[in-house]
This record gives sequence, structure tokens and C-alpha cells, in this order.
Amino acid sequence: MPGATPTGTRAPVVNNGPRTGNKVALTFDADMTDAMLASLRAGRVKSYANLRILDLLEREQVPATFFLTGKWVRRYPDVTRRIADNPRFELANHTYGHAAFTTDCYDLPALPVDELARDVAKTFEVIKPYGGRQTRYFRFPGLCHDAAALEALAPLGVTVVDGDVVSGDPFATAWKPLVRAVLDHVRPGSVVIMHVTEANAAMTDEALPHILAGLRKRGLVPAPLSEVLGEA
Ligand SMILES: [Zn+2]
Repeated sequence: MPGATPTGTRAPVVNNGPRTGNKVALTFDADMTDAMLASLRAGRVKSYANLRILDLLEREQVPATFFLTGKWVRRYPDVTRRIADNPRFELANHTYGHAAFTTDCYDLPALPVDELARDVAKTFEVIKPYGGRQTRYFRFPGLCHDAAALEALAPLGVTVVDGDVVSGDPFATAWKPLVRAVLDHVRPGSVVIMHVTEANAAMTDEALPHILAGLRKRGLVPAPLSEVLGEA
């Protein structure tokens, strides 16, 4: 069968690029669930799109890569357009509605394994019309994956990107620990995980200028993920 993926083939998983050179990837996840949409509708939450992060990255001309959920794109088409229109930004896939792809992933409800590929394919279809620097990079919600999930996604030709530097920005209440978490662990080839979700990651924009300054001091230069992974 032409184009078929042999059974047992798994989507590749990467944490970082080569440890040579001076490039690092800043990645921002854009989570969106039905519960988050309900919070927006009820007025409990003002925004899950942190525009101050985009303002800063644009002003300083810093490259970044955004892992978008389909539901976030649908809720924030103008912000998605703004990301896609920036030649320094890459677009990647973070599932359609941020459900878990394994049965044991924090408190996220899990998708059945036979729906995983369809979920990711649907998300690519939602992102694609925005153009810009489209990629086949994919990140699992909560970074949770197992052999079954990786096998399910193999036919899509995605590269799973976990990352090697966890900022810990979800539900942070202070910015300094984020700066320390990043700068203590970042090195050439690193992939830094942050969030652009505002209400659920309220300190990220405050931490970011300090992170950028710390990277400069260490001689590390932010680059699009494809360049950090050596695939550009
Ligand atoms: Zn996420």
C-alpha cells in the first residue's frame, strides 16, 4: 500500500537541537479547552492571548515558535494572523482542544487512541489557511505521550517537540522563578517551553524581558525552532 506507515512506526520525538553554536528556541503554547472558552464567555477571564508577549517579541525582533490549539486559533483569528504575518515566527500544532493523548496526563480528559490522528490533522487544517511559516512540529498537551500515541501520529509526518527547558509558567504567581528556571537550564540547542495564554500564565510577559537579557549575556540567540533543530 503506497504511503502506508508500517505498524510500530512512531513519530520522532526531539527535546533540543545540536549543542553546538549559540541558537535557542523560544516556544509558546496556546492552550484552549471548552472549559477555558466557558470562562471567557462567562466573563470570569479576560483573555487567553497575551498580546504583551507579541508586542515585546515584535519590538525586539525576536524569533519564536507558537504551538497553537485549533480552538485557540478559532477564538483568536486576528492574533493568529498577527503571528503568521511575522516572518520570524513559526506555527506549530498543539492539538485541537488540548485533551490528553494518554490516559494519565494531569487532570486532562483523554481522547481515545483512534481519534488522535484526526484531532491533529484537523488542527493543521485550522492553522493552514493563515500561511506564514507553517511546520509539522507537534507538542502533546502536558507533554504526555506513550508508544500508542506516537504510533497513531506517525502517518501525519509530524515531529514531536517536547523541549528541554520548562519555564513552569502555567499558573505562576511571580516572574522571578520563571527567569531562574529558564536561565539555569538553557544552553545551545535548547527548546524553552512557555505559554502565551495570559490568564493561565500571567507572569510570562513580565519574565520575558529578563529572559531575553539573560540569553544575551550568555551569548545565546533566539531562533525559529526549525533553525535550532538544524532543519531549516
Ligand atoms: Zn499545553
